[in-house]
Amino acid sequence: MGCTAQNVIEALRAGAESIAEHRDELVALDREIGDADHGENMDRGFRAVVSAVTSTPPETPGAVLKSAATVLISTVGGASGPLYGTALLRAASAVGDAAELDGAGVAKALEAASGGVVARGKAVAGDKTMLDALSPAVEAAKAAADSGAAPREVLTAAAEAAAEGARGTGELVARKGRASYLGERSAGHVDPGARSTALLLAAFAGAVA
Ligand code: ADP
Ligand code: MG
Ligand code: MG
Repeated sequence: MGCTAQNVIEALRAGAESIAEHRDELVALDREIGDADHGENMDRGFRAVVSAVTSTPPETPGAVLKSAATVLISTVGGASGPLYGTALLRAASAVGDAAELDGAGVAKALEAASGGVVARGKAVAGDKTMLDALSPAVEAAKAAADSGAAPREVLTAAAEAAAEGARGTGELVARKGRASYLGERSAGHVDPGARSTALLLAAFAGAVA
């Protein structure tokens, strides 16, 4: 089954709910290696996203993603706002004006999102950032889509890979973002942005039929 604009709105709503539920956990992770605001930043941003796409629902998946991107960029002050915002903006461009996305379309959107994070933040795999969740998620999504999977399966595969990638950031030394100021002392803590990426993808997978 294809993923419609309404499905993307539902996915963002589920993402916002998960972020709200895990707000304190994200704050705690960011307290260890950053400035203790990732949970607040994401919660504020995703609440604003939900209210924007609910009050005036855009008509295509791409338009929903673009609206969400604009809201995140304007409401989240931290590094994560422009990064997630650019990710969603690139995803929006990748899907164009299609009325529905199939599994391959979802994988393409995720790949573009990851490219947006790289373009904006210049991180590479292993730098202990959200990319360490997103990049394996993209590979898993592409593999699933190549075998003909529907949006839900593509997102489920992506979410599982992201969760594993996020757990793996615990061992890494940060080379980008605030956590990099800690150098070697950043090891031993999961990256908050990688964790929020895993939470979002799991929520999206659960929301898309
Ligand atoms: P801030 O660090 O400005 O307080 P947040 O706490 O909201 O912003 O977000 C921090 C997260 O942003 C980090 O955990 C990391 O995943 C991500 N991040 C920071 N810098 C980069 C970067 N250059 N590339 C990719 N992700 C980054
Ligand atoms: Mg922070
Ligand atoms: Mg901050």
